[in-house]
Amino acid sequence: MVERQPGASRSRASKPDAAETESHSGMRTGGAGKSGFEKKTIALVYDFDGTLSPRPMQEYAFLPQIGIDAADFWRESNRIAREQEADPLITYMHLLYKKAKDKGIRIDRDDLVAQGRQVELFAGVVEWFDAIGEYVKLRSESHGVAIRHYMISSGLTEIIEGTPIYDRFHNVFASEYWFEAYDLPYPKRVITDTGKTQYLFRINKGVEDLGRNINQHMPEAERPVPFSNMIYFGDGDTDVPSMAVMRKNGGHAIAVYPPGKSKHKCVDLFKAGRIDFFAPADYRRGSDLFKRTCLLLDRILADIRVQEETWRVAKSLK
Ligand SMILES: [Mg+2]
Repeated sequence: MVERQPGASRSRASKPDAAETESHSGMRTGGAGKSGFEKKTIALVYDFDGTLSPRPMQEYAFLPQIGIDAADFWRESNRIAREQEADPLITYMHLLYKKAKDKGIRIDRDDLVAQGRQVELFAGVVEWFDAIGEYVKLRSESHGVAIRHYMISSGLTEIIEGTPIYDRFHNVFASEYWFEAYDLPYPKRVITDTGKTQYLFRINKGVEDLGRNINQHMPEAERPVPFSNMIYFGDGDTDVPSMAVMRKNGGHAIAVYPPGKSKHKCVDLFKAGRIDFFAPADYRRGSDLFKRTCLLLDRILADIRVQEETWRVAKSLK
């Protein structure tokens, strides 16, 4: 069992993107860098449970492994959180391991990663990243546009690590355990619904090292990934704070619902102006989700070209 360095944040941040030309220092001088117009990174940010995968990730292996019915588990966890006025996410993280211990089952970090292989993904998710990458490459008439995928999830980093799409993400921000803390694994990082918004700002400001403070003021012009270059994908109430942050700051949001099932949550989000679009969670090329995402990408790419040209004109006047 190997523990990561605190704040190492999956080392994804140091991974070069295919089309990326700039280093990811987070301290660039915004749109007016020395070498050229720099705000050409597009970030697609995803929730996991219900967005990329039909059910909460713990239901595929952890709960079956300890022989507990998923509905019973969440009911108990929510009841305890309510009664104790505890944070529901800390409560579920604790209860998972308490239940495992009660059954005499030890589940360590490697076991959680292995559980990730059981997690089901919606149709087309595995192929989505290449398909979107190809689309952006085809439509991008300005050089050096980079596309990055990020995940912000209240689920468990270790399980996500075991899924076949883990390497597709520039960075994964998710809840995580310390395995040798006390008697039971102890939550190292808990990502709540509102806490998710912190990570949107980390992407926006280029401060992805979790050991660094995010609250320092950074003028808009210095932020490497403007919200207008970002699309957030979520599935419901837990994504409302993130969607609100995106939309208030000029970013974009798309909600998904399970194909063939109720879309009422998405309709509510749409009517409330929290999202640009909604679609069934079908990620295959040609689906409504794919087409609507591409439409937003077209708009982002056009925006980048306009801003780059404005930057060039301004530069020529100096
Ligand atoms: Mg969700």
